Amino acid sequence: MKVDVLGCYGASIGNYRTTAFLINDTILLDAGTLTEVLSYEKLKKITSAFITHTHIDHLKGLFPFLDERAALKEDGIKVYAAGPILKIMSQNLFNNLIWPDFMKIPSEEKPIVRPFEIELEREVEVAGVTFKPVLVSHTVYTTGFVVKEGRRGFMFTSDTGETERFWEIAKSEEGIEFIIVDVSFPETRRDIARLSGHMTLSMVLKSLDNYGLSHLPVYIYHIKPFFIEEIKEDLQRSKKENIFILEQGKTIEI
Ligand SMILES: [Zn+2]
Ligand SMILES: [Zn+2]
Repeated sequence: MKVDVLGCYGASIGNYRTTAFLINDTILLDAGTLTEVLSYEKLKKITSAFITHTHIDHLKGLFPFLDERAALKEDGIKVYAAGPILKIMSQNLFNNLIWPDFMKIPSEEKPIVRPFEIELEREVEVAGVTFKPVLVSHTVYTTGFVVKEGRRGFMFTSDTGETERFWEIAKSEEGIEFIIVDVSFPETRRDIARLSGHMTLSMVLKSLDNYGLSHLPVYIYHIKPFFIEEIKEDLQRSKKENIFILEQGKTIEI
C-alpha cells in the first residue's frame, strides 16, 4: 500500500497544509488538501474518499475538486462516512448555500458525490484496501480508521482527545505497522487541547503505555503550525525513538 501525505497539519498557514492522505493513488482518507498539490492527471484517478469528520480542515479540498469534476462532466466520487457525518455534510455543506448540492448535481441518479454510509467497526473494501471506522473522542462525531491491504496496514486516530476504543482495537488488531496520532498542542497548552478535543504528546504516551503499544512506530500529525517548535521540544524531552513528526509530501510504503 502506498500512502501519500498531501497535508497533515492542524491549520493551513503558509506552506502548512491540512489533513489528507492519498492511498494507492485512488482513495482519499480525508480531503483537507487536494487541488493545491495534485496535478489534473492525478486528480482524475481519485475514485473514492473516506471522511473522518466534518471539520472544514478535513473537507475543504473537496470543494474545488468537485466543482471541477462537475464542470468537466466527469464521473463522480464515492464518499464513505458514518451516518451522522453524511447527514451534516448534506445539511450544512452541500446545501446550495455554502456550496452546490453535489449530492444531487447533475442528477439524483448520478450525482458528483455518491454517499455511502459505513458502520462503526465494520470493514469496507475499496480496490483491495479495507477501511474500518472506529469512534474516537473529538468535539464533533469523528471516526478514526484501521486501513489495511492484505494483512498489513496502519491506523489513523483522526482528530481526537484522550479516547479508549481506538486503543483497544489498536491492541487487538494484527499487522499494524504504525499509527498516525493527533498531537495538536504542546504540553503548555494542555487545557486548550482538552477543550478542543485534541491531545498533547504526554496524553498519547500515556495511552500507548496503558495499552501496551509503546513499541509501535507512531507519526504525530495535526500539529498547529504556530506550536511546532514547542512540540518538537516536547518530543526531544520524551527521548522516544519510535515517535516521529509526520511531514507533508512524504510517501509511506507498507
Ligand atoms: Zn476536527
Ligand atoms: Zn482537524
